[in-house]
Amino acid sequence: MTTKVIITGSKGRMGQALTSCARKFPNLQVVALVDKGDDLAAAIGKCDVVIDFSAHAATVEVAKLCAKRKKALIIGTTGHTDTDTFEIKKNKTKIPIVWASNFSTGVNTLFWLTRKAAEILGPDFDLEVVEMHHRLKKDAPSGTAKSLAEILAEVRKLHLSEAARHGRNGIVGERTQSEIGVHSIRGGDVVGDHTVIFANTGERVELTHKASSRDTFANGALRAALWVVNQKPGLYDMQDVLGLK
Ligand code: NAD
Repeated sequence: MTTKVIITGSKGRMGQALTSCARKFPNLQVVALVDKGDDLAAAIGKCDVVIDFSAHAATVEVAKLCAKRKKALIIGTTGHTDTDTFEIKKNKTKIPIVWASNFSTGVNTLFWLTRKAAEILGPDFDLEVVEMHHRLKKDAPSGTAKSLAEILAEVRKLHLSEAARHGRNGIVGERTQSEIGVHSIRGGDVVGDHTVIFANTGERVELTHKASSRDTFANGALRAALWVVNQKPGLYDMQDVLGLK
């Protein structure tokens, strides 16, 4: 059976990567491309799944429309506010949604390794997350860096909103054990680098992932689209798609 897909944000960097990668999936057909100013409501009847890689402000309406028309949804867009997130999550009782800050298999392996390393190394190690992206990226820190910091906070039983230190400037005092540093670098055409640092006196562990092509995210999101059509309503992530849970 062919899974019919609509891509929102189709003219963007990720939209173009998705459109091109989709040609290599024999069981998947892109039935419409939607960008700013186009009418998703007019096209949505043709598809089984909407893949959203647009802008944070657009996802709420996309999710509401998918729920109303009973279409599965893949969300790759990042940078959502707490209100956006709350509104988007409401739709999980009506449709299956795969929402991932990063669709690459490598980064999902990094998520798994980060949790393991934090558990093994314990509370004496200082935790810092560093990310670098191209100069055109609009949100910071990246969704992936937030996910990594959330994993670290979960293992340490901290609230990320209190523990996160976004860059440091001025007389900030000595580092405490209850903080998780999160730092964003922007420049050039970097597709996405993420490093998690575990630093103790006398030793340091660093886990790094570097993406060199957007196709890695696109292929993961397309794989998720094939998977999600067979799922019950609910909120899933890429770890569910890859069977890592
Ligand atoms: P981009 O700026 O190149 O493209 C975004 C596109 O969305 C643009 O063409 C824009 O016109 C369009 N758009 C804006 N508002 C819209 C609306 N209301 N309806 C339809 N289209 C709309 O950005 P990009 O680099 O392609 O990234 C898109 C999003 O995906 C960002 O949030 C980025 O952080 C995220 N991203 C996620 C992953 C992942 O694996 N989850 C990977 C890469 C990028």
